[in-house]
Amino acid sequence: MTNILIYALHYEGAINKNSLGAVSEGSRLAGELGGEAHVIMLGEGIPQELAASLGAHGASKVLVAEGPEGLAQPVVDAMAKAIEGGGYGYALFGGGLLGFEIGAGLAARLGAGVVMEVTAVRVEGGELIAERPILGDSAISEIKYRSPVGIVIGRLNAFEARESGGGPAAVEQLAFELSPHAGQATMLVRGEQRGADVDIEGADILIAGGRGLGKPEGFTLVEELAQAFGGNSAVAATRAVVDAGWYPYAAQIGQTGKTVAPKLYLAAGISGAIQHKVGMQSSENIVAINKDANAPIFEFSDLGIVGDLNKILPKLTEAVKARKAG
Ligand SMILES: Cc1cc2nc3c(=O)[nH]c(=O)nc-3n(C[C@H](O)[C@H](O)[C@H](O)COP(=O)(O)OP(=O)(O)OC[C@H]3O[C@@H](n4cnc5c(N)ncnc54)[C@H](O)[C@@H]3O)c2cc1C
Repeated sequence: MTNILIYALHYEGAINKNSLGAVSEGSRLAGELGGEAHVIMLGEGIPQELAASLGAHGASKVLVAEGPEGLAQPVVDAMAKAIEGGGYGYALFGGGLLGFEIGAGLAARLGAGVVMEVTAVRVEGGELIAERPILGDSAISEIKYRSPVGIVIGRLNAFEARESGGGPAAVEQLAFELSPHAGQATMLVRGEQRGADVDIEGADILIAGGRGLGKPEGFTLVEELAQAFGGNSAVAATRAVVDAGWYPYAAQIGQTGKTVAPKLYLAAGISGAIQHKVGMQSSENIVAINKDANAPIFEFSDLGIVGDLNKILPKLTEAVKARKAG
């Protein structure tokens, strides 16, 4: 029986979406391995209900450790202690900067094998095989672990958050000791790292703009469409326009930006370069507007519209507004 230990990050009383994806994926994999998915959370006074709620994403047990929140080393200490107890074949992280730091620290502590930027994991012969894009995402390498504990660190939002319909998870307190160096760092401020107020990772609908918008003011067209959709929609961008200073980096999707998986990804004036594709290819529905019928984006779109975005976007905005009003 191989259990999987998953790290869940929480902030202001909620578990972050990336971690929920990791818990869902860990629970699927543990099921296939014939084991259980256990989650570890670290913080000060974590509410019992918050921990137990992870049962809905497939966790059977949540280990709650008391310690300073949002820092890597205390989590490494707590996870090493939990793994010492035995029964864990793998530790899984949803990625993000903290996930990378904890996973790498844990690998060093345990002498374990680690794979970062994992985009898919499967079970084969009772073991996990991690898939990691390499060479600028143009090829996939498959990695098998030789160490007793294998560490899997996903690419940000690579794992989809799914509710499995499970009841509340059992919650246990985990006692552990902070290593002396774990107290060397103190959290001063916690918040959005890049300073912008765009929440593209949590959005259900993303309207993304590329160089085809022509000029910075072109973003008004995508903003108006996002506004017409209302609710949980936001504007995203390609690196080309971020580098040109047309839109903030916090909205950049792709290899050197964020990875997203909204219900709808509408790409306006985006060619569909591989470095952009890797950040949005898991979107449920991809709609692309491009004046070039041979644009690569059409190769992975569910719906392609060949035409001038300057004409199509305002019409689409009107149609969405009319639909909402009706
Ligand atoms: C190491 C590395 C990392 C990178 N990381 C990223 C990343 O994280 N994210 C990212 O996005 N890119 C990244 N890139 C850049 C990437 O290779 C592309 O250059 C970039 O994605 C192109 O952006 P774009 O689609 O906006 O522009 P373009 O490729 O210039 O495409 C513009 C598109 O708009 C269309 N168009 C023009 N006018 C109109 C109109 N009026 N109506 C409709 N369509 C129109 C054109 O036909 C064209 O297809 C990276 C590159 C490298 C080398």
